[in-house]
Amino acid sequence: MAEHSKIEWTDATWNPVRGCTKISPGCAHCYAERFAERFRGVVGHPFEFGFDLQLVPHKLEEPLRWRSPKRIFVNSMSDLFHEDVPDDYIAEIADVMGRADWHTYQVLTKRSSRMRDLLKTRLRFAAAKPHIWWGVSAEDKRYGLPRISHLRTAPAAVRFLSIEPLLEDLGVIDLTGIHWVIVGGESGFGARPMLRQWVVSIRRQCRQNGIPFFFKQWGGFPKSKAGRVLDGRTYDEMPSRNDCDRLVQIAVGD
Ligand code: SF4
Repeated sequence: MAEHSKIEWTDATWNPVRGCTKISPGCAHCYAERFAERFRGVVGHPFEFGFDLQLVPHKLEEPLRWRSPKRIFVNSMSDLFHEDVPDDYIAEIADVMGRADWHTYQVLTKRSSRMRDLLKTRLRFAAAKPHIWWGVSAEDKRYGLPRISHLRTAPAAVRFLSIEPLLEDLGVIDLTGIHWVIVGGESGFGARPMLRQWVVSIRRQCRQNGIPFFFKQWGGFPKSKAGRVLDGRTYDEMPSRNDCDRLVQIAVGD
């Protein structure tokens, strides 16, 4: 969709699927829905059908045309593992990620059990590639912690968490097998608050486990007002390509 992105932890977004449906409290103020619905009924616009789920096959090969290496957020305007996206289509997307391997892909879902199941079967060929990172969103204990468990049992070489919008203290998180953690507060009108101690607890657990910690934003409205400084500094940590190659060797060795 966009060769450049304003999202702090990625370079570009790629949307071979558009639209989604809400699944948990983290979806309440979904930015993608808000954006897409503005264009419902605008004939010829990519979001002519608002946030209704649409496959967009003409976008499938887009990463192959981007020659310089990028971090690419896959389906920033949807959820790749939504129940209405066929297995075959997801496999086609994974095939493109495999072929355009000069990029790094960040696949993020709230449909974590389907992702886990497909990584064990149809997507097995893509699960252990160092340039494809598989992640889940975790906004609270009830919905988020089970997703982390699903991710942990998926045969992915590189696993990450997007803890955004962080809606409550997550307590002690089992970070075994997790390689990157992003934390952020909700932004936009009506944003729910995020307390500092919830963030600090996650940062401490990342430090204890040697996991890169990325603090995206405090959130609020406008989000630029609160910024993204935590205790006097920004946190932009993420795994390096070398780290990921090593993780794959470990996974293969397993
Ligand atoms: S899963 Fe993501 S894209 Fe889908 S409604 Fe929820 S927040 Fe929006």
